[in-house]
Amino acid sequence: RQDTTLTGPIETTLCDYETVESVNEELFTNLSELVKTPFFKYFRADLYRDCPFWEEHGFCMNRECGITTVDESEIPEKWRAAALSKVELPSEEQRETLPGCYYRDSDYCYLDDMTEGDYIDLSANPERFTGYIGPSAHRIWSSIYQENCFGLDDAQDELSAPSGMAYIMTGRYRALSFLKPASDEGQQCLEKRVYYKIISGLHASISTHICAEYFNQTTGEWGPNLPCFINRVANHPERLQYIYFNNVLLLRAVSRIAPYLSAYDYCSSGTHEEDQRTLDVVTKVVGLATEAGKFDESVLFRGENANVLKEEFKQHFRNVSRIMDCVGCDKCRLWGKVQTTGVATALKILFELDEKTLDPRSNSNLLQRSEVVALMQTLHRFTESLHFVGLFREMWAAADRED
Ligand code: FAD
Repeated sequence: RQDTTLTGPIETTLCDYETVESVNEELFTNLSELVKTPFFKYFRADLYRDCPFWEEHGFCMNRECGITTVDESEIPEKWRAAALSKVELPSEEQRETLPGCYYRDSDYCYLDDMTEGDYIDLSANPERFTGYIGPSAHRIWSSIYQENCFGLDDAQDELSAPSGMAYIMTGRYRALSFLKPASDEGQQCLEKRVYYKIISGLHASISTHICAEYFNQTTGEWGPNLPCFINRVANHPERLQYIYFNNVLLLRAVSRIAPYLSAYDYCSSGTHEEDQRTLDVVTKVVGLATEAGKFDESVLFRGENANVLKEEFKQHFRNVSRIMDCVGCDKCRLWGKVQTTGVATALKILFELDEKTLDPRSNSNLLQRSEVVALMQTLHRFTESLHFVGLFREMWAAADRED
């Protein structure tokens, strides 16, 4: 039996495994309540944009790949497209646009244009086993990992990126990639490692959800699949470590915007008591996030070429968010979009926003609702993954006792 217990410091953070575990169950319970509230459960996404990189034929026909959308009339009026487009969309000068999506300078992802797409009640479309497998899924993952190439040393890798990738590589970005001086290599390695940890940890978290809520085609029943978890995650201890790493990163982002989240207007269609309850739960989550979210963002993007490297990192992450349009299973695409937006929002909070910007009084429209929702939903995914990891550990120990 392999021991999956993790102890001691979590690499490139200021936190240890024990601290993350000590707050996780309480965090998970509170976040589970939060993501069911009207403010946090509705997400608008454009799930039917063409894949910009290749002709995608891998459509998943399983029933589980489908999603149910909700009619706009069910959405609290304040969050509907018409209202959103008035207050939330940045002006043409502030954003770079592609059909159906855009990004601002500080963004680490493309955001769907909130006047297009469907409303989805995330609580009614849980992330779990869908049966989306094979070349289409593998191509997505390998394209995402291929984005992990930075600077001169990686120029060769970059040339093998998916052929359509040039579509979103601006001239500026291409120039940056090839001009990267070799002298920052140490620094470059750290950022590259962090990028890999984020992606691999996200992949491991998705795999954990698939294995925890697995459909057994022989019995026709849903339930945890221990061999699936062992093969995909536990047999690769670093993947498990990266789930913790992502947790710390997201917790740090949430704690960094604590005043902003406390001042946010969570008013929706509910009663005053319901809105107050949402705020109370947010406050609890923020408190726990502050205890465990010890990540030192200041060690990244330092040195002479820090800004160049940061631009590159950002562009790679934006590419990842567009790769989501190539995922051939609607439910996987939905959760892929939610989670890449959530991680991208955390990165923006950590690397783009200074203390002054974070002041909710001077900058109340700092984040869009979709970013706040994605951040909390993604943190919920990761705390749930750790919760499932605990259950799998127990199952594994019980299986060992039986042997
Ligand atoms: P995959 O998970 O496809 O992995 C491909 C290869 O990557 C592996 O062979 C391995 O070499 C490597 N690898 C695997 N994990 C890691 C890791 N953590 N770090 C580094 N390398 C790794 N399926 C569902 O059933 N439900 C979903 O909700 C769902 N959502 C998805 C969302 C996205 C964005 C994508 C791209 C896919 C999603 N899928 C989902 C499909 C799922 O992730 C797998 O691709 C599928 O189950 C096939 O799994 P696999 O065992 O062949 O390996």
